[in-house]
Amino acid sequence: MTTYQWAVIGAGPAGIATVGKLIDEGIPPREIAWIDPQFNVGDFGTIWRNVPSNTTVKLFLKFLHASPAFAYQTCPHDFALNQANPDETCVLERMAEPLRWVTEHLQKQVQAFYSVAEELAMTNRHWQVQLKNNKITAKNVVLAIGAEPETLYYPTLSIIPLQDAMDKLNIQHHINKEDTIAVFGSSHSAILVLRNLIETHANRIINFYRSPLRYAVYLKEWILFDDTGLKGSTAKWARDYLDGTLPPQLERVYSNDENIEHYLPQCNKVVYAVGFKRRLLPSIKNIGHLNYIEQCGIIAPGLFGVGIAFPEAKYNPIGVLEHRVGLWKFMDYLQRVVPIWLHYPA
Ligand SMILES: Cc1cc2nc3c(=O)[nH]c(=O)nc-3n(C[C@H](O)[C@H](O)[C@H](O)COP(=O)(O)OP(=O)(O)OC[C@H]3O[C@@H](n4cnc5c(N)ncnc54)[C@H](O)[C@@H]3O)c2cc1C
Repeated sequence: MTTYQWAVIGAGPAGIATVGKLIDEGIPPREIAWIDPQFNVGDFGTIWRNVPSNTTVKLFLKFLHASPAFAYQTCPHDFALNQANPDETCVLERMAEPLRWVTEHLQKQVQAFYSVAEELAMTNRHWQVQLKNNKITAKNVVLAIGAEPETLYYPTLSIIPLQDAMDKLNIQHHINKEDTIAVFGSSHSAILVLRNLIETHANRIINFYRSPLRYAVYLKEWILFDDTGLKGSTAKWARDYLDGTLPPQLERVYSNDENIEHYLPQCNKVVYAVGFKRRLLPSIKNIGHLNYIEQCGIIAPGLFGVGIAFPEAKYNPIGVLEHRVGLWKFMDYLQRVVPIWLHYPA
């Protein structure tokens, strides 16, 4: 059986950046195994593709040019992203298109496995990676497995999946004239859902929130609330419609027991926009509780994590700890941690 130097599990933006950075650091591409069931840019390129971005075109282009292994300057296609205004945001699909090209470009060099990694086990200082119908061995493994929306449990309500509620076209298939829709949350995703519901003329919406709205502020050297604040067109919509007089079909109530008891029975459908949790891991033999070091992604000897499932934690200039999630942030982080990973022994 071939023993790979590295196995990268997941081909979303974080997996793509990891493969690129490993090659940039001198790992021969043939010694990298790359595992994903679809190789279609992860959730970014599939379920979220019609969602407006919260980062600018400029940052997406910076990501595409940051890894020499991507060879983006040799790409023969002139994607719409290249022509877009660098200071504006765009739908995620605009960035997914070039990322699909980068994925294909990297797949030609590394060993790609269209499969799911089900189990990891360490033997003789090597990781055995059990795939659905295959087994590979690698000295080091990177988990770039992504995250899923969190949910709450109110069984009397029918759930509108977050991925549909955040998509202006799909949400229409879920709403009827007489619906009263509960929306839990007040983050970027929740506000986008409120906007979509109002713009598709939903009858009545009740937003259960825990925190006040928080806006990202672009300062000279850094962005306040970069990871948690409202940005772009969603921030503008929130200022126009939520900070002033609410649209007549929308009520916003603090999410406590009393309000839930009073308002929830008036609703028949619900959208949970209450955050994301790490996707289920492959089972890992002989490692009990799984922790990662939030400043460098080390999980265990020869086992590392990156992306939305294992984000970097970093203090911003005013001392607030933030978990850095976003394409450019993954790339910037990998540029610093891959050289460390190369020296961390399995
Ligand atoms: C709604 C939304 C909007 C966002 N907008 C932006 C934005 O505008 N700009 C920005 O920079 N960031 C944005 N982000 C943040 C972030 O960039 C994305 O979440 C991004 O998709 C995270 O990339 P990832 O590679 O970590 O995870 P994913 O994109 O989820 O990819 C994970 C991949 O791993 C695969 N996988 C999982 N388990 C296994 C397994 N056991 N074996 C094999 N494969 C496996 C999955 O099938 C998937 O292909 C957004 C996030 C969300 C949720």
